[in-house]
Formats: sequence, C-alpha cells, structure tokens
Amino acid sequence: MKYTGRITLLILSIMVSIIESFSEATSIWSILEAILFAAIAYLLGWVYDKAIHYKNKAEMSETRLWDLLKFSPEPFLVYQNEMIVLVNDKLEELVQSSSNQIIGKSIFHYVLPDYHSTIKQRLQEMIEGNKSIDRVELKINTTHNNVLDIEISSAPIVYNNKPAVELFLRDITKRNRLEDELRKNEELFRFITENTTDLISYLNPNGNFEYLSPSSKCMLAFNQDEMIGKNLFEYLHPGEVESVTRLILEADSNLDFASLSHRVKKKDGTYIWVETNARTIRKNSRKLEGIVAVSRDITDRIEKEKRLHETNIMLRFISNMDGLTGIANRRYFDEKLQEEWNRTKRSSLPFSAIMIDIDYFKKYNDFNGHLAGDECLRRIAIALKETLKRTCDFVARYGGEEFVILLPETDEQGAAHVADLLHANIKKLNIPYMPTAKEPIVSISVGYATLIPDEYSKPEDLIKLADTELYVAKESRKNQFIFNQYSHLA
Ligand code: GH3
Ligand code: MG
Ligand code: MG
Repeated sequence: MKYTGRITLLILSIMVSIIESFSEATSIWSILEAILFAAIAYLLGWVYDKAIHYKNKAEMSETRLWDLLKFSPEPFLVYQNEMIVLVNDKLEELVQSSSNQIIGKSIFHYVLPDYHSTIKQRLQEMIEGNKSIDRVELKINTTHNNVLDIEISSAPIVYNNKPAVELFLRDITKRNRLEDELRKNEELFRFITENTTDLISYLNPNGNFEYLSPSSKCMLAFNQDEMIGKNLFEYLHPGEVESVTRLILEADSNLDFASLSHRVKKKDGTYIWVETNARTIRKNSRKLEGIVAVSRDITDRIEKEKRLHETNIMLRFISNMDGLTGIANRRYFDEKLQEEWNRTKRSSLPFSAIMIDIDYFKKYNDFNGHLAGDECLRRIAIALKETLKRTCDFVARYGGEEFVILLPETDEQGAAHVADLLHANIKKLNIPYMPTAKEPIVSISVGYATLIPDEYSKPEDLIKLADTELYVAKESRKNQFIFNQYSHLA
C-alpha cells in the first residue's frame, strides 16, 4: 500500500487529539495544536511510505538483475560463503551437471588443484574489497571428467545483502588447442626451414619472393633479404624461362602441383641445377594466393648423370666396335641388321647385303707375318668404310678376314655398283701379297643379295643368300664377283 504510513499516523494523531479534547476545554489553541500534530504525523507517514517504496523498488530491481543474468550467453555463477549460490543454464551445460547438484558446492570442486591457491587468494581479495575486476585462465574438470580451459572474469557484488563474487566463465579449450596447434606448426615450420639444406620459398602470384629459408645463403650465396621482394625470373636460366612461365600461368588457372629441374643463378653469376617441387596456395574462391616451392641442389647428381651418360655412350661404342679394325663388330652388326630390316620392312623398299672375303689371306699372313696381316685387315676395313657414302649404309667385321655391308633401301643395281666400287678401292690400296712389287696384290671376293623385307622373310635369309653368292664367287674364280638377283624369297 502506497499511503499506509501517512494514513496510519494521521489516524493516530486524530485519535490523540480527540482524546486530548475530552480532558481539556476546547480552545482555538488546542485546535491549532491538533492540526499541527496531524500535519507532523502526516509528514512522518510520507517519509515512511517513500522509504518503503524505494526499498521495494531496490529489491525488485535486484531480482530482475539476477533473472537477466540467468539468461547470459556466458556461463555465470555467484560465489558466496565459499560455495556456489547461483548458476545459469550455460554453466550447467559447461560443467555437465544440474543447478541442484552445483549449488552448495565449493568452486574448488571443479577447479583443478594446480589453480586452487591462486583462485582462493583472488576470491578472498575480492570479498574483502581489495580487488575490483579480475580475469584469469584456469582449468576445470567437468562432472564427466572433461578437462576444459576456462577464462574467468570476476567482480565483487552484494548478493542477498552480503558480499559475494560473480564469475563469468568462457570455454577457451578450442581456442587454446588451436593456438597450441598453430604454435607447434610454426615451431616445426621454423625448425624445418632453418635447418634444411633445401631452399624453401614462398612466391606471390607475380612470382616475387615473399619468404626464403636461410639456406639461400649456402645454396646461392644470397642472404634471404637480398632476394625477398625480387622476382623469380631474375634468377632463372634463360633456358628455363619459357617452361617456368608456362607453369606459373597454369598455376594461375588450375595447376596445383609441379615438379621440374631447372637452373638458378648464384650470387657470383654461375648457375646450379635444382629440382623444384612447387604447390599452390589458394583462397576459398580458388584464386591463387601464392606458391610454396622446395628446391634441392642437384648439380652433383646432374654432373654424375652426365658423366654416366657419356661413359655409357663410350661403353656402348666400345662394345659395338671391333678392336682391331675400329669398325662395327659382329654383335653390333646383328643388332643393326634387325633394326634396319624392320625399318625397311615398313617402307617396302629393297634391302641389300654384301659379304666380303679377302682372297688368299692365309698366304698373306704366311708371307708377311701376323702383324702385317692385322695391318692389312685395318686398311681394308677403312677402305670398305670409305667406299660407303650414304649415312644408313653400314659396314662390320663379320669375323676373321670377312666383312659384311648392309645397304638399306638399295636395289640390286645399287648393290652391284657398290660391289664394283669395293673391288676398285681395294685394288687401289695396292697391297702386295709378297714384299716384292711384282707379286699380285690383295683382292677381295664379294657376294651380294637383295630382298624386299616382308612377313615371309627374315634378315638371316638375306645374309645367307649373300654368303652363298660369296661362296660361288670364291669357287668359280678368285678376285671375281658374281651378280645374282633375288628380288623375292620364294
Ligand atoms: P680364300 O681365298 O679361300 O678366302 O683363302 P683364305 O686363306 O683367305 O681363307 P682361309 O679361311 O683359308 O684363311 C683365313 C685366314 O685369315 C686365316 C687367318 O690366319 C687369317 N685371319 C683371320 N683373322 C685374322 C686376324 O685377325 N689377323 C690376321 N693377321 N689374320 C687373320
Ligand atoms: Mg674366309
Ligand atoms: Mg679368304
């Protein structure tokens, strides 16, 4: 009731005045006295009513405040007399327990022991009014034994007319884990980049270096700072500019990973070979944000590969070469025969072979000695080789004092012509059988054959035919050659 104080005191003052009027004679003064008394009583009543009104109002707003705090999006509790006295729904969710189970418990039921002493001291200071607002990080254990990282903001309050502390809790477990993860990754990244001998770089979409690992110093003799901000193309060998430009253009659209070997310029202007693996970094929109590249010095490897390649070529050459004459040996001949046969087969052109045997060579050895025989073989081999003009013509030592010539894409007339030239060129060598000039000179016997390679014929058939012709030539007359045409194998 709004007017309770005023009405009560007014009635009381009127009653007192009436009682007084019975005992005294009524005079103007006694009436004025009664009115004054009533007015004072009314004034006191008004003061009382106002006091009650403000008291109720204050109590009402405190209740409303707690109601509002109950809807706080942050977990919230009030701590008083060493126990939790008020919690909101969010706090129930956080500690995975109902308010009935939480209220009445000590806060240290949830806070991990490591934090007890600090929290105890801070709460105490707050209750005693020595600390106003505070923020602290700690760990709590929920009812289901989940340890959470919590950030607590607290402030001293008066709750139910007694000192208390309000605490807002924020679950920062995820944030802390992310930060931990990030820190770990950063440390790992730093460790790798600072200790690797590979060059790790980050380029923006224009190809400018935004990051370089310290290994730039030992790999290229440039400090990181000297290269940061510079463009990749300043360091590339002109030979690889085109391929790298193409890769960067492709990275701009859809290429996400590339690996290539290229040369990079060192501070002294020389180049080293590196193998670079590069990966793109894209925004959510797939727009290119940058390129991370790891480059490894492979100069040693490239040089070793080059030497190995040269050695292999050399080995191959040696293994294909006849040691005495320097022309192809029998092994290489077999390989070449098959290869040229297949090639000619595809073109359906004629393929000729010539077999050559030195006449009376045993006698030459007998007269002149084995070493002279070797020299004679060498001179004849060179003469045979020099007779051949086309690049695909091929001569090999077939064995002993026999040679073989392959004439791909050559018909019988061509073979006959080459055979004539061979005879003539050996004659020109003018090597006598005996040391005296009057003796006859070294000659050769030749047999040749021509085939058009097809599915029914084999390369050995051609050699066999040429060999048969050589035999016939030997038998009929030494220093002669027999022409025989084999356009097709029956
Ligand atoms: P023909 O006229 O019938 O061909 O008689 P030929 O003496 O040339 O043939 P034969 O097969 O009877 O003898 C070949 C000789 O070639 C035997 C060997 O002494 C000689 N000869 C084979 N290889 C070499 C070699 O590498 N060096 C030397 N000096 N002689 C060789
Ligand atoms: Mg022979
Ligand atoms: Mg012979």
